[in-house]
Amino acid sequence: MEYFPKALLDGYRNFATQRLPTEQSRYRELSERGQSPEVMVIGCCDSRVSPEVIFDAGPGELFVVRNIANLVPTYQPDGGAHGVSAALEYAVSVLRVKHIVVLGHAQCGGIRAFVDKIAPISPGDFIGKWMAQFIKPGEIVEQRSHETTQDFVTRIEKAAVFRSLENLMTFPFVRTRVESGELLLHGGYFGVAEGSLFVLDRTTKEFGRIRNRDE
Ligand SMILES: [Zn+2]
Repeated sequence: MEYFPKALLDGYRNFATQRLPTEQSRYRELSERGQSPEVMVIGCCDSRVSPEVIFDAGPGELFVVRNIANLVPTYQPDGGAHGVSAALEYAVSVLRVKHIVVLGHAQCGGIRAFVDKIAPISPGDFIGKWMAQFIKPGEIVEQRSHETTQDFVTRIEKAAVFRSLENLMTFPFVRTRVESGELLLHGGYFGVAEGSLFVLDRTTKEFGRIRNRDE
């Protein structure tokens, strides 16, 4: 225990004394009945963008998968081990979630690495290979003239959400349920500095800011 981070032990003790008492019955119920979340969130690993915190979610409410730059790969039944696809398969075919939210965010390090075309960090170039699936073969992603670097990065962060939503539909079990109306796909974008949430309007293809209750 001596090497276990103290901040986590302190955090757990706060949870156990403050939050757990109000949620104990819920945990017991979930333990006996199993989980049945209605929402799956696909988010980034970024420590500032925690879906449970942003959506004020309690135990059993969100089924979350996080990876670098909140990317969903295309459907590849090639015999390989695919973590996001496994989570997706479980959420959609077993838990039968009603919503999948792809949550992008500002200042995404994965997107920044991709935009800046950084050199491999390790011999495996895991980030480079992971981010490369964001673009389609032959697709060119470049900064437009009259576009600031900031605007370019923001555009690509949002494009990653679009691409993930597009790739979700390559999974037969997703497509079937979306087409039957049993599953809805959504895009979101979190502005880290302001703590602001933008939600994608699928018809206008624009992200609209969600207003707070007092606005
Ligand atoms: Zn990120």
